[in-house]
Amino acid sequence: MLQQTRVPTVLNYYPRFLHRFPDPASLAEAPEDEVLKLWEGLGYYSRARNLMRGAKYICEHFHGELPSEPDLLLEIPGIGPYMAGAIASLAFDKPAPAVDGNCIRIYCRLHALPLVPSEGSTYKEIYSRIKKDIPEEQPGDFNEALMDLGSLICTPKAPKCEACPLNDQCSAFLLGKQEDFPVKKEKKATPVEQHTILKIFIGDKILVRKRPSTGLLAGLYELVDLPGDMTNKEIQNWIHENFPATTSPDIRSMGKSRHVFSHLRWEMIGYEIHLPVSDSSTKKALTKSAVSLGELVSSEKYSTLAFASAIRTYR
Ligand code: SF4
Repeated sequence: MLQQTRVPTVLNYYPRFLHRFPDPASLAEAPEDEVLKLWEGLGYYSRARNLMRGAKYICEHFHGELPSEPDLLLEIPGIGPYMAGAIASLAFDKPAPAVDGNCIRIYCRLHALPLVPSEGSTYKEIYSRIKKDIPEEQPGDFNEALMDLGSLICTPKAPKCEACPLNDQCSAFLLGKQEDFPVKKEKKATPVEQHTILKIFIGDKILVRKRPSTGLLAGLYELVDLPGDMTNKEIQNWIHENFPATTSPDIRSMGKSRHVFSHLRWEMIGYEIHLPVSDSSTKKALTKSAVSLGELVSSEKYSTLAFASAIRTYR
């Protein structure tokens, strides 16, 4: 949970998640929708799916117990080198480096290394340096110290060098060039997508769709999501094309919002749309149209579904 998400946010989720899934077996057997619901709002849902895949693997290959060796941990889906090092050192006292962006920044500054963090050779260089430095005793404390130093003191901008326990041996500090290390690569502009989100009511039912099981926001529920920044008139046309039985849709704006993913930004405009149900044949025709687009659910069921937090404004 703490990958990409800050501690104060995770504190609202972790105890609840662990209470429901206290061991790999309970997570491995859980329905995906239930796991995603408990994850709802944390974002980066592939982490939840990887946890499930990992739990299944642990049950199938390690009798339901997490192994202690980094090499074995790396076999588990969803566990990469950082996680393997962190688990092996913190939980099992193994002297395994857990190299992330914090470690790379600290080591580049300590030794004035002009390296670019995203390059593979940088990871290898820092890994081998940490491998030499990490103690046999309390290796978990060493890794945790690096994590804390990176998040609290040796921050990307304006590091608090006066308070740093390493300032007497830090080359970048002694040179007065802390922020020159590591080397920054020019950032590419984030691609932007326009979306029009429609919350469509047919009577007291709401039209939802489940996203495909792979790709962005996989397996989560969403509302009708159309490409582009559609005007009221364009939406009216879309409604008449897709719900020919409707006569006078009630279209209300829910305003604009945005969501920033790690690699992409969504700019959204949302509308709440009520399609009047005047008689049973209209209801039947509208329901048939709706089912070709998704699923009609009651408000009770709607509140139990795991939605992408990207559309929380319109949820
Ligand atoms: S002295 Fe400053 S730059 Fe060097 S490790 Fe400490 S906080 Fe980072």
